[in-house]
Amino acid sequence: MSHITDQHNRIIDYMRISITDRCNLRCIYCMPSDGVKTIKHAEILSYEEIIRIVRIAADLGVRKIRITGGEPLMRKNLLYLISSLSEISGIEDLSLTTNGHLLKQYARQLALAGLKRVNISLDSLDPQRYKEITRGGDINLVLSGIQEAQNWGLLPIKINMVPVRGFNDAEIENFARLSIITPYHIRFIEFMPIGAKEFWNNDRYIPTDEIKHRVSSIAPLMPISFKKSGPANYFSFENAKGAIGFISPVSDHFCISCNRLRLTAEGKIRPCLFSETEIDIKSAMRSGATDGEIRRLLILSAEIKPSGHNMNEDKISKHLRPISQIGG
Ligand code: SAM
Ligand code: SF4
Repeated sequence: MSHITDQHNRIIDYMRISITDRCNLRCIYCMPSDGVKTIKHAEILSYEEIIRIVRIAADLGVRKIRITGGEPLMRKNLLYLISSLSEISGIEDLSLTTNGHLLKQYARQLALAGLKRVNISLDSLDPQRYKEITRGGDINLVLSGIQEAQNWGLLPIKINMVPVRGFNDAEIENFARLSIITPYHIRFIEFMPIGAKEFWNNDRYIPTDEIKHRVSSIAPLMPISFKKSGPANYFSFENAKGAIGFISPVSDHFCISCNRLRLTAEGKIRPCLFSETEIDIKSAMRSGATDGEIRRLLILSAEIKPSGHNMNEDKISKHLRPISQIGG
């Protein structure tokens, strides 16, 4: 079986694909209130282009695909993409990250189309605060979407929470307690200096150590491991139904085990979220590149994957494109 290995002996078997830069929310840490300049429709990869890239990537050993954005459920005809990707030989894991607003409507069809799992972003359990953080979001839609995803077996349900000091950090403990009574994986993700850059400041950033300290004040945390846990370190409380994960892109880079490439909404392969280097696979395809040439571009993308990034809370990348375009 073929696989791509990069210069640092990491096997690249995961591709994260942003299928749209559009979003129905404007989360304060991700987008400015007036949104970001959107990419022209003609510049966004078509489904056929995405399917072709994934087919070639699967042949090279990519096994895991995550669909993201922007808000992926906003893109028309998504079920066609999901069912086409799920049929590609070699793709073992097909998941999607969403803000959950359209999940109630789509969970059943997504599951039937072959989606395996969903990650849902939820930064507050308080309706008013949720509305403020997302600039207009409705938590009831998210909660009913989560329930529907659970009903249709899109498991395990992973809830992503980004604690931001002064905004939602008072809820860290409540989120952690959710893992006791529900089977959800509650994942705390460090606030990163990307996205809405004007919103970032060091004081708002909360390192995992601090989040973990607060969580473990509820009850002792026991380490657990899942077969494919990605960058998260998982724990659980005794007798809890669910789990708690910590993802620390800022305080504890997980570059050494990074196994992913990103495909941006406008068709560039980005080997590292925090590096500006991209390979323009769309232009190659639109100028008639053969499958063999696309294959070589994918291999090249892995070859130039940096060994790691040096981002920390003091080093804000000033030139990064919005995360909604790259795919969070
Ligand atoms: N719209 C979908 C959603 O919100 O789940 C998918 C795209 S969103 C860009 C993907 C993830 O990126 C979300 O979980 C969001 O919380 C996270 N994210 C966005 N900006 C971030 C930042 N500055 N720091 C940490 N996480 C961020
Ligand atoms: Fe939209 Fe997701 Fe960014 Fe929020 S985090 S603005 S839901 S893309």
